[in-house]
This record gives sequence, C-alpha cells and structure tokens, in this order.
Amino acid sequence: MADRNNPDKIASRSFSTKLLHFGAEIDEQTGASSTPIFQASTFHHHDVFNPPHHDYSRSGNPTREALENYIALLEGGTRGFAFASGMAAISTTFLLFSAGDHLIVTEDVYGGTYRFLTTVLSRLGIETTFVDMTDFEAVKAAIQPNTKAVFIETPSNPTLKITDIKLVADWAKENGLLSLLDNTFMTPYHQRPFEQGIDIVVHSATKFLSGHSDVLAGLAVTKDEALGKRLYALQNGLGSVLSAHECWLLMRGMKTLQARMEHSERSALRLAEWLSNHPEVEHVYYPGLPDHPGREIHERQSAGYGAVVSFDVGSGDRAKALLNRIELPLVAVSLGAVESILSYPAMMSHAAMPREVRLQRGITDGILRYSVGLEDVEDLIVDLDAALRA
Ligand SMILES: *Cc1c(COP(=O)(O)O)cnc(C)c1O
Repeated sequence: MADRNNPDKIASRSFSTKLLHFGAEIDEQTGASSTPIFQASTFHHHDVFNPPHHDYSRSGNPTREALENYIALLEGGTRGFAFASGMAAISTTFLLFSAGDHLIVTEDVYGGTYRFLTTVLSRLGIETTFVDMTDFEAVKAAIQPNTKAVFIETPSNPTLKITDIKLVADWAKENGLLSLLDNTFMTPYHQRPFEQGIDIVVHSATKFLSGHSDVLAGLAVTKDEALGKRLYALQNGLGSVLSAHECWLLMRGMKTLQARMEHSERSALRLAEWLSNHPEVEHVYYPGLPDHPGREIHERQSAGYGAVVSFDVGSGDRAKALLNRIELPLVAVSLGAVESILSYPAMMSHAAMPREVRLQRGITDGILRYSVGLEDVEDLIVDLDAALRA
C-alpha cells in the first residue's frame, strides 16, 4: 500500500506540493478528500486507564491538529498552533514573557499589536521599546539588562519597510534574546523566517493564508520543541483556540495560497509600476520597485514582493475623493483576499495613533494601501485611473 503519510517524504517535497499533500488531506478512516470537521467538544474514553489521544477540544481537536501540523510543515518549524484570530495568536505568544521583562518591537508594528503591548502587557509589568528595525544601531541601542525578545514585522505596514531578518535574529541569539516575527504579509510561500534564525513565527491567517475575507484566524509556529511545549501550555491555558469549522475553512483556503499569491503578485507589480508613472501619485511603496529602500535585503530573505502596494496621493482630501470614486476594490480594513481591498490607514489601521506620531512614521494623510486580488489587473487600472483623476 502506498505510504502517503511518511513525514520525511512529505517534508522533502517542494512548497507547492506541500500545500496539497501535507499528511492530513485525506481522511484515514473513510478516504474522504478533505480533513473531517470534528465538531465535538469532548471525546469518549473507551478505556479510562488508556485515555484517547484527544480528550477535550480546547486541549486538542483532530481538525485543529491537522491545520497546526500543516502550518508547521509550511514554515519548516516543529509545532504549530491555531488561534481564534491573529491577535489571539500574538497576545498568547507574548505571554511567554513575565513581569519585569523588556521587549524590543518594530515601531511600525500592526496597530492591534501596538495596542496590546501598550495597554495590556504594560499593565502586567512587561515593558516595550519601539524602534525603527531598519536601523540596526537603534535596535542594538535599545537593549537593557532585562530585555528578553525582539519582535519583527517585515515588510511593515503600510510603508513596506524592510528589516534584515538574519542580522537582527543573529544579534538576538548572541544576546540570549528570543526572536519573533509576524509573517502575515509574506506568508511561508515567500518568506520562511526560521531559515533566517527566527524562533517563533506568528500570522494573522485572516489575510493571505485564508484568502477569502471570510475567516478570522491566527497561527503561531515554534522552531524548537521546548518552545513549542511552553506555547502549548499557554494555548491550552488561555483557551483562545480556533474552532474546528474555521480550521477546515482555513485549510481549504491555504491549498490555493500559491496560485492566489502568484496571480496577485504579478498584478501588484504591474499596478505599482503603473502608479509610479501616474501624474496624480506622489510616491509608491512596493518592495519590487527598483528604488524601494531595503529592496536588496528583501530579495535576499524573501522569494517575492507580495501583493500589497501603498501609494501617496498627496493629501487627505485627494485620498477621500479617490475613495468616493473607486468602484472595484472593497474599501475596508484587511488585506490578502481574492478580491482587491483598498484601505485608508489614516482613518482605519492607524486611526488610533496620534497624528504627529503617524506623520513621524511616514504614514501621511494621503497614503492608501491597495491589496491586489484576482481581478483582471487592467480593469483595476482603469478603475483606479478614473478615481485618481477625480
Ligand atoms: C491583521 C493583522 C494582524 C491581526 O490579525 P487579526 O486576525 O485581525 O486578529 C496582525 N498582524 C498583521 C500584520 C496583520 O495584518
């Protein structure tokens, strides 16, 4: 009989094959062509002296386990964890740290992560210093005797600033710090941070991994087993796990990750180049453009440029006029879906940030963030051109 589930064979294949053949794509019992949704909170003990592998769904559920092994395989880590949202994954992971600890975090970190660090972890006695991670001297200068970890996001949101992952991860290791990275924008298809020395990868799987604007989910993966055990205790203790049904939907979306990313990225590059030559656009941010700061670093550590393009139309009024005229993309918070999504950071993702701080970080009133979906890019361009000329 064919040995479909040999873990070494599965791990040896290329990324696109792993997306479809990850070891749980066929139900062992019935041969069904997808992992069953085990809609059960608890599991019968046929023999109480020999308890079942799963005994209660917060602690473990077969559908969730399939997803957790799937993301661990794709990232090349030892253990994966699925949570009810990206923020559940991130906040649970941060509880690896204790009162009196200090963290170094990228200054243009996701807004929800910023809020969690500054309003919740700070209350628990865990301090954060926010630094420009593209400036290695600033990273080094932020270390304190009680520093325990660095948290990276690259490319960052919405100006797509590039951090040198290996440089920061190596420095963290030399100084006995853990290194964490939010890989939402690139996904393991383009960027596998463990290969650069990172210890824990987190995701908002709500975005590219699920890909259809219909699932809220988070994932975390650890490189080594000891960290995996610690994170498992937190996942089980805090209980913010992903439901079996959502796990199934997420796996369904992940199977097409490469097909979606390839299409969207091709369109994003075309859109970025077109925007660069548009008279109504002052600046375009996209790692695939020749003048994008950190492009060489990005090309060293990632296999592609992603599907998010930001651009500056010069003022808040002009941004609002464009948003009123645009017809194809969803105008919304979020990104990474089959349909294009246009968002306005000043009023959406970064609305909570004081305007001065926002401007200091280069997030002007005229910046828009375009997450390119699967539409025909020429249609997107016609639509955007009409809106830009408003
Ligand atoms: C959306 C997002 C998050 C938060 O994830 P949720 O699923 O919305 O909780 C975290 N990091 C990044 C980079 C994101 O884009």
